[in-house]
Amino acid sequence: MLRGLPAIDKLLDHPDWGDDAHLPHSVRREASRAVVDAVRTAVLSGSLSEVPPLDELVRRARTSAQRTAGPKLVRVVNATGVILHTNLGRAPLAAGALDAIRTIAGGYTNLEMDLWSGKRDSRHGRLTDTFSRVIGCEEVVVANNCAAAVFLALSALAGGGAQVVVSRGELVEIGGSFRMPAIMEASGAKLHEVGATNRTHLRDYEAALDAGARIVMKVHRSNFAQVGFTKEVSIEELGALCSERGALLLHDLGMGVLDKAPGSTRGADGASESVRRSLDAGAQAVLFSGDKMLGGPQAGIIAGSSDVLTKIRKHPVMRLVRPGKLCLLALEATMRAWEMDPTGALLPAARMLSRDEDALRADAESLGARLARLHGVTAEVVPTASTPGGGSLPGMTLPSWGVAVTVEGLSATSTAAALREAEAPIVARIEDDRVLIDVRTLLAGDADAVVQALSA
Ligand SMILES: *Cc1c(COP(=O)(O)O)cnc(C)c1O
Repeated sequence: MLRGLPAIDKLLDHPDWGDDAHLPHSVRREASRAVVDAVRTAVLSGSLSEVPPLDELVRRARTSAQRTAGPKLVRVVNATGVILHTNLGRAPLAAGALDAIRTIAGGYTNLEMDLWSGKRDSRHGRLTDTFSRVIGCEEVVVANNCAAAVFLALSALAGGGAQVVVSRGELVEIGGSFRMPAIMEASGAKLHEVGATNRTHLRDYEAALDAGARIVMKVHRSNFAQVGFTKEVSIEELGALCSERGALLLHDLGMGVLDKAPGSTRGADGASESVRRSLDAGAQAVLFSGDKMLGGPQAGIIAGSSDVLTKIRKHPVMRLVRPGKLCLLALEATMRAWEMDPTGALLPAARMLSRDEDALRADAESLGARLARLHGVTAEVVPTASTPGGGSLPGMTLPSWGVAVTVEGLSATSTAAALREAEAPIVARIEDDRVLIDVRTLLAGDADAVVQALSA
């Protein structure tokens, strides 16, 4: 059998490489060698009864070479039902944002130029008008992401070791094991923790201000919830206190729902939380992510009053975390989409969040019927629950519909793995030992990709 193994050159010269014959020679050679080596190992261990035909070996080498030399970031179908899946790039962009990138980013843009005077100006200023119309802020500054926005704001306002008062109930660890308190301290600010894990009272903040602190920061719990014997001070109470004492109030809102848009959470008092609410309550700076409920590109937005934002904009850290033109083009278009339709109908993530259960069920039934026709595939339409994800709206689930799939002779884990390796990779959940395709997060054309992948 070993004598039947082809020479590497036989694989390399094979016509089946097609378009991939122009992949780097070293990559094709390495892939071909690895395929032949794997077969040799299998023969020697006795686990193979015959050497696969040459075209099969070439197919394997081609797949592996494509994987090595092809693009590493590819379009993926999100069948998980998690709308803002951080590992899958969070919010899909609105059509308007894509148009802005496509029509403008291939050329030049007035990123930092005032076209009326021809003079240099700020890349942030351009977004202020749009943002202030939608959320009523005086000014806006954009950083690379919300964590960077927190770091930037505190560097500028408290970087010299000033005290920042924060509740012990709000010391959040965000994804990737990064902790907001650590990010806040990295700015040079000194955290003045108040309250207990489950209960923080207004008098705790008062005592901190009495002791000389001048900055209060409220941090949204975003990815966890507290139930039972709890107490949290609302942004309005903090706004009133800080204004009375002449202290600065910052609100890291994380998810960033603008106004009464879909997806807003309820605060301690049961009222919806939003950027506008925090601004109205007197927060001088509200910080939120661009790619969570806002539905835009990765960005950290600081919206607030001009005097505070001027300080932030002029701080050297601003230059370290400033966004590029792709981000700003997409962000402006995202805000225009909210302005044109405050229900979020122009934003894919907001649309997914508010999708009607009957429509989801109809989609699941149509997909289920197509999958059930495939040989060796069993498909059952089942009720399920989606989640907003992205570290927002903890504990909130959305009733949804999906298709539970089993493939003859394959475990759920192997089926899920095969789907991830499909030409258009599908990422799905496993529930009750079956692969579950939640239709809520499928975009146009995704159902076809699921059918194609399972049929393959
Ligand atoms: C998500 C989140 C962040 C981090 O935002 P990124 O844009 O991912 O950097 C910070 N604070 C809160 C409260 C969050 O929810």
